Amino acid sequence: MLTEPLPTTLDIRKAAARGVSISGVLKPLELQRFRALLAADDGVIEAFLAFSKDDEGRFLIEVTTDAQVIVTCQRCLDPMPTRLQTSHVLAVVWSDEQARNLPRHLEPLILEEEAGELWELVEDELVLGLPPYNYHERKDCNEVLVDLAAAEPEMAPEEERPNPFDVLAQLKPSEKNQE
Ligand SMILES: [Zn+2]
Repeated sequence: MLTEPLPTTLDIRKAAARGVSISGVLKPLELQRFRALLAADDGVIEAFLAFSKDDEGRFLIEVTTDAQVIVTCQRCLDPMPTRLQTSHVLAVVWSDEQARNLPRHLEPLILEEEAGELWELVEDELVLGLPPYNYHERKDCNEVLVDLAAAEPEMAPEEERPNPFDVLAQLKPSEKNQE
């Protein structure tokens, strides 16, 4: 279990030339775009980044994330814990043209400066990796209760409701009897 926070930025060229690996933890609140997709602030995100240079001299970053966070179940709308794991190899480029010239198996990471924003990089992975809809396991889901509550009115058909005129009609004879 990691405990050190992930550094915010790193010189990508130097890291790749040295074959650096770096890891650390983040909290959902530190990644606001990702937090907006979650149901609560609780959770922990572990990130592992391995920098290298390939035979063509390209700078590569293998980004692996492992997040335990709280999302909303789209069936019962209750919060639910979930685990999100992602892993991709990104090729660092400094222009759209370089990005277009990459071989297909590499995903471009377009940087504008030498320093890479590591938090942003990890956040992009999490935002793209999170399924748009999350659901409890059937046995854990509160959907059943919601279904029963919704079905209840249908079990009392309208004809069985007391008619106010019937009630009046029943009262009249009894009133007479009491006179
Ligand atoms: Zn549910």
